[in-house]
Amino acid sequence: MLFRTHIAFGIFIYLLFFSYFRNPILTLIGFLIGIIIVDLDSKKSKFGKKWYFRPIQWFTKHRRFFHSFIFGIIGTGIIAIYSVEMAFGFLVGFTTHIILDSQTRRGVAPFHPLIDTKIKGKIKTGGIIEDIIFVILLLSDALLVLVNTFIILQ
Ligand SMILES: [Zn+2]
Repeated sequence: MLFRTHIAFGIFIYLLFFSYFRNPILTLIGFLIGIIIVDLDSKKSKFGKKWYFRPIQWFTKHRRFFHSFIFGIIGTGIIAIYSVEMAFGFLVGFTTHIILDSQTRRGVAPFHPLIDTKIKGKIKTGGIIEDIIFVILLLSDALLVLVNTFIILQ
């Protein structure tokens, strides 16, 4: 899936549970890191195309280790040393990325390298279905911002 769809879906999940977070800022930072870090394994991705992330791509193929929960759990553990709220955000953001990519034709192997079974869907990355999903997510995000603002102001 495209960067924008990952962000729109991640924000949707974040806003859905916004009122439950003890530290919304740290949780949001964790969320965004969790969503973005996964695609650093691709030199075509938004951040992965930066030259300073190239060394990551020498060691892992796209949609392999960085798209595995083994990586997600290691990352969560490392961030938890600094902040549990941020680590929680990271794990959820990471999970939203894997869920979306598992709906694409290319799929993901969420337990690589332990189990290499792929989970695939029917959506073409960057295709019309993804565009429709993106627009629906964007509208939902706007609605959730209004709902959360209303809850805060009450
Ligand atoms: Zn991905």
